[in-house]
Amino acid sequence: MSEMVLRPEFNLPKGTSEVLGKDGKTYLQFNSSMATLYQQTYGEHSRFFLALRDAKLIGSKCTQCGQVMVSAATWNCPFCNFAEMKEVVLPHKGILAQTAPITIFPSQSFIGQAPFCRGYVDIATQEKVASFLPSRLRTTTGIPRPGVFVKGIELKLVFKDKREGSILDIFWVPMKEIPKKLRNKAPLFESELNFENPKLPKLKINKNLKPVYVKLLQSLNEMSLKVLKSPRAQKDLAGKKYRIGVKTGGGDFTFIIEKNKMKVEPKVAKKTDFVIVANNPKTFNDWINDGSLTDAVIEGKLWLPSREAFIFLPMLDRLPRSIRRDGV
Ligand SMILES: [Zn+2]
Repeated sequence: MSEMVLRPEFNLPKGTSEVLGKDGKTYLQFNSSMATLYQQTYGEHSRFFLALRDAKLIGSKCTQCGQVMVSAATWNCPFCNFAEMKEVVLPHKGILAQTAPITIFPSQSFIGQAPFCRGYVDIATQEKVASFLPSRLRTTTGIPRPGVFVKGIELKLVFKDKREGSILDIFWVPMKEIPKKLRNKAPLFESELNFENPKLPKLKINKNLKPVYVKLLQSLNEMSLKVLKSPRAQKDLAGKKYRIGVKTGGGDFTFIIEKNKMKVEPKVAKKTDFVIVANNPKTFNDWINDGSLTDAVIEGKLWLPSREAFIFLPMLDRLPRSIRRDGV
């Protein structure tokens, strides 16, 4: 079945419940609904989205002033008394017009998709005047982090394999991440690139970080013992089973989380769910001292391979706080 407009989580079970009024009396309430479903056309913008569906990128160019609209939102120039605009086929590459922000905490409609990056792409660079296309940016090097999508980098247009005629049918990837033989391919499809197994970033091994790492292992072992005595921490870990390899410039380890417990092995285990990387092991010492690994990702100190690894962070971030609140 195709995806429905209203998601199941917006629904409520039938029935009544009690609610306490301001006057202290009990009132009866019932679950009901009010929804309006409607269909809306993209109007003049349809031509642009139909082209996307066919894996093409088009703009509209004014026959009088020469300005190019990207996306082709209208076919009559608003600056030239609605003069006719002609279709121009756009290249499948562009330049990032400004450094793109990374969305970590998205609005309701994008929950589960973070972290993601959106930016303005300058595509019709050969034209005198052209607008920039706001669109999704993706990298094949793990989850987006500071320094990847900076102003001025060259981008390659990539189409989703399955398209429906929406701006989400396309995204842009840094050109330097595209294999040379695919750089001029148009259209290029998502399935031709590898997003699943990003290469680990190069670590700067630094012998000065060794003592920091040794101290970290000690603190992690102390923390595992505290977890055993903290009901809140055990609740955080309940039902979770993870093996996370961690590589740092001072040394490696593996977090093993199972049976409401946390264990640490002083090397990267052969089998892991994923491996995360931080140049400085202090990133984890800071976390134990009530810092946050999510913040470390935002600041670019911690590298993660995937969204799956990101979703796992809030659980780890809760642990030191739970231990402290239980007074262990
Ligand atoms: Zn014009």
